[in-house]
Amino acid sequence: MAVNARQKVILRTMGIPVWAAHRDIPGQKKDNESTEQLFEPETERPITPEIRREASQELEQKTEQKTEQKTEQNRALRADQKIERAPADSWSLLQDQVNGCTNCELNLSRTNPVFGVGNKQASLMIVGEAPGHDEDLKAEPFVGEAGHVLDQMLFSLGLSRYDVYIANIIKCHPPNNRKPLASEIEACSDYLLRQINLVKPRLILTVGAVSTKKLLHSRELISELRGKVFTHQESSIPLVPTYHPAYLLRKPTEKRTVWRDLLLVKKMMAES
Ligand code: SF4
Repeated sequence: MAVNARQKVILRTMGIPVWAAHRDIPGQKKDNESTEQLFEPETERPITPEIRREASQELEQKTEQKTEQKTEQNRALRADQKIERAPADSWSLLQDQVNGCTNCELNLSRTNPVFGVGNKQASLMIVGEAPGHDEDLKAEPFVGEAGHVLDQMLFSLGLSRYDVYIANIIKCHPPNNRKPLASEIEACSDYLLRQINLVKPRLILTVGAVSTKKLLHSRELISELRGKVFTHQESSIPLVPTYHPAYLLRKPTEKRTVWRDLLLVKKMMAES
């Protein structure tokens, strides 16, 4: 391969001697020449400052490229090692993260984060809206009057709150029992998804409009969505929405509707 003057400078800079083939020299004998005799160090030719500068730039460029390649390889290696070292998701890790969470303003007004409660291997998971005043104080979801109604609903399914897993869409109590803001729901949504992935229930029962719309990414009214079977997109788990127990306290006549939804839940649990 032909080596130009700039490359020769680079090779010499790197301490590599440059050899070149004999040119045809008049009168030189060609027969019976050994391989060694065909090559000799190239005769030095004047190297201009221009050639030297270009060679130096080229060498610098090559060195930079190699350094960048190495840095990139090291970065990829570190990323791999980080993935291998990352602990698998676990209840204790998740609970610690929720306890110390400051992802939204609700961390400033809460008394306690309300993580979730129940059987961590439950077949049925109940997802509500947000902790109320009583839940905020006791750090447990559905402990007030609405909690009593939920217990009755579960009783009609032949279950208690210790047979199912209960969690809310957000973990901290919104002041004055206001509805959680979209930004708060978004900030908290990863925790619920991780709870669903850890429990791996056979069925999710959403109670109320907020949790139903969030998990179904829907804008439809809860009255349109309730009593139907959907699939929770992120986990591929079947999901049935119904009214929130607190709504039944305000409108007891809807208990009959919820009863029908619970019959559907019971049927699906028996079949799955
Ligand atoms: S509501 Fe959720 S996101 Fe906001 S502070 Fe509580 S745990 Fe964090």
